[in-house]
Amino acid sequence: MTTIFISRSASGVSLSLPFSDPIWRKPQAASRFQSLLSTGEPADIVVVGGGIMGLSTALHAARLGMSVQVLDAGEIGQGASGLNGGQVIPGLKYDPEWLLEHFGQERGETLVNFAASTADAVFELIRDERLAVPFVRNGWIQAAHTEMALKAAANRDRQWRARGADVSLLSAAEIGSMTGARGYLGGWLDLRAGVIDPLAYTSELARVATAAGVRIAEHHKVTRLGKTAGTWRVSTENGAELQAKAVVLATNAYTDGLVPGLARSIVPLHSFQIATAPLPPDLAATILPEGQAVSDSRRILVYYRKSPDGRLVLGGRGRMALPTGAGDWAHLERALLRLYPALSGITIEKRWFGRVAMTPDHLPHIHEPEPGLVAVAGCQGRGVGLMTALGGRIATYLSNGDARQLPFPLSPIRPIPFHAFRQVGVAATIAWYRLLDALEH
Ligand SMILES: Cc1cc2nc3c(=O)[nH]c(=O)nc-3n(C[C@H](O)[C@H](O)[C@H](O)COP(=O)(O)OP(=O)(O)OC[C@H]3O[C@@H](n4cnc5c(N)ncnc54)[C@H](O)[C@@H]3O)c2cc1C
Repeated sequence: MTTIFISRSASGVSLSLPFSDPIWRKPQAASRFQSLLSTGEPADIVVVGGGIMGLSTALHAARLGMSVQVLDAGEIGQGASGLNGGQVIPGLKYDPEWLLEHFGQERGETLVNFAASTADAVFELIRDERLAVPFVRNGWIQAAHTEMALKAAANRDRQWRARGADVSLLSAAEIGSMTGARGYLGGWLDLRAGVIDPLAYTSELARVATAAGVRIAEHHKVTRLGKTAGTWRVSTENGAELQAKAVVLATNAYTDGLVPGLARSIVPLHSFQIATAPLPPDLAATILPEGQAVSDSRRILVYYRKSPDGRLVLGGRGRMALPTGAGDWAHLERALLRLYPALSGITIEKRWFGRVAMTPDHLPHIHEPEPGLVAVAGCQGRGVGLMTALGGRIATYLSNGDARQLPFPLSPIRPIPFHAFRQVGVAATIAWYRLLDALEH
């Protein structure tokens, strides 16, 4: 039997845009990755997409003795992995009791344990592989601005505390002194979490993966996947043809038409970020003095942290269409001043955005539409930890075929009905949520 998948759209990868100027920079001496297996030599695995998911899978697979080729359409770190806020937060959108109730005892426990482990996966990798990644592991604050959010925080705290997690509730005074921000009634501190430089992390993953034997080729957009007599044939835009026993599709929010239905099974949203100029010392001493990451409890939430060079970096949902100018980040500047009026007048030096993949059930999905073709999609904005941890599990699955150790069951690809109208629907929902958030303010 012969299977052929051809990429129908180039829209999945739109990485270098004039209005996207991220704060994170690769070191001048960062490697370029141009290593391709020779065509006659089949790889155990070809990984399509060199973000955290693809690179973690590749590194773990190489450690398990497999030969791995990673192909990326752009440069390493040009997808969400090198653009994100660098908040390393454990957990899923759902709390432990919800997971147990909806997935049953066995699968639920697996999910809760996996969710609890995802931040550890990042910090252990940094430690064990000696990655040159600036990080602070001093926790993540979920800040509550309503009584209802405070109740949800107390409920979450009770559930994780019962499982021995290093978490605690914060009073209004405590959160005020830890964040320096206005308007919070209290919050929740999860000390398992921290912040990293995401581009350094992604670049370093690529470096250690290469040292472990993985071949990585940038600027190799995969345009066609075919299978003949049990071997996958992978073709790239620039004419390379590779063979592999298995293919992992790690293209997440930048997924295009390579595997039928996959792009329509997720909603790619834009997350926008701004970074101030380095804060003057008097303000730096009052804003996040201990270096935690923060997300607030609004429906359209903002998340923020300080960067290693002392800027305040704040992000949140952005418009669905591509930005056309600095005005498209104005809502984030307003949020910044609502939280920190003392920053009035500070220069916003950087503005950028990237894509996040949402799934209808807010959980990552693992698919295997054909034997030996594994696709992972959906990260809900917590992909730094999730994708790092999931990469290890996918590599193990490919080495021993045991799907039981995957935290999420293999599921069929389910295109979302009326996907073509998603932009209208998402834009309307965002506008409605912003109005509700404003009324609660
Ligand atoms: C602005 C922003 C802020 C975020 N903040 C946080 C945060 O603070 N904490 C957190 O945990 N998560 C955050 N996220 C989410 C997180 O960044 C992602 O979940 C994670 O990086 C996804 O990693 P990935 O490897 O799956 O995908 P990506 O890093 O997006 O990698 C996909 C890769 O696939 C490549 N590709 C696509 N199509 C092809 C093709 N046909 N051929 C070859 N290559 C292809 C792309 O070039 C890209 O490099 C944020 C995301 C964004 C955009």
